[in-house]
Amino acid sequence: MDKTTVLQVSNLHKSYQETEVLKGIDLTVQASEVVVILGPSGCGKSTFLRCLNGLETFEQGDIALDGQILDPQKTSWHQIRQKIGMVFQSYDLFPNMTVMENILLGPTKAQKRDPKQVAEQALALLTRVGLSDKQHVYPRTLSGGQKQRIAIVRALCMNPEIMLFDEVTASLDPEMVREVLEVILDLANDGMTMLIVTHEMNFARKVADRIVFMDAGKIVEEQKPEDFFMQPQSSRAQQFLNVFNF
Ligand code: ADP
Repeated sequence: MDKTTVLQVSNLHKSYQETEVLKGIDLTVQASEVVVILGPSGCGKSTFLRCLNGLETFEQGDIALDGQILDPQKTSWHQIRQKIGMVFQSYDLFPNMTVMENILLGPTKAQKRDPKQVAEQALALLTRVGLSDKQHVYPRTLSGGQKQRIAIVRALCMNPEIMLFDEVTASLDPEMVREVLEVILDLANDGMTMLIVTHEMNFARKVADRIVFMDAGKIVEEQKPEDFFMQPQSSRAQQFLNVFNF
């Protein structure tokens, strides 16, 4: 069976003032593929994900979702963000709303979906991440790991075609990292198309279909995880893995 391309990025360039941060990124992601982006701090991983989601403009290049080119001038990013879910390091839940109210907001306001139906979907997802008993509480009563799992449920409830994860465990205490990574692994097993930026190397190795290694605004190598971790090709990737004792 032919694979379906969900996301195609061609020659993406992005600068902040005079500094070019993305220097021509090409990347294709197929349906149900899990791509993990690794690379040293400051190499442009986060900027890349933010460009995909319309949170940053870019000067050159194309981003196509389901074959449709997203024109930064014309595209309604409001609509695109409904198809591209993103979860960040900070959870950004509204403190004055309950967990369920936080989750319902996007699907009912932006997508104008039936609140009852979305609530059923939300409850099923909350159950899946082990938090069905938290639907009526306020975010302040939750741990960091619980908030991050809620943030993932909130993004999933928009029924996105692809999920972007930007260092979602970076601000969590070590004992909470696992519970969040397990949710992402579960999504991978379920066939969700995902682009993940992480510093958790064991997780990267386990979850990825493909590792993309970036350095200084470029993709330096792309490999199957076992090849990347056992035999990185570039000296930059070798150095990077040494830091993590791989
Ligand atoms: P990574 O996610 O790989 O750590 P980032 O995408 O966050 O890298 O950053 C890439 C580079 O762009 C860094 O040098 C960073 O300082 C710079 N940068 C990121 N955001 C901004 C911004 N809003 N304004 C200016 N420079 C930025």
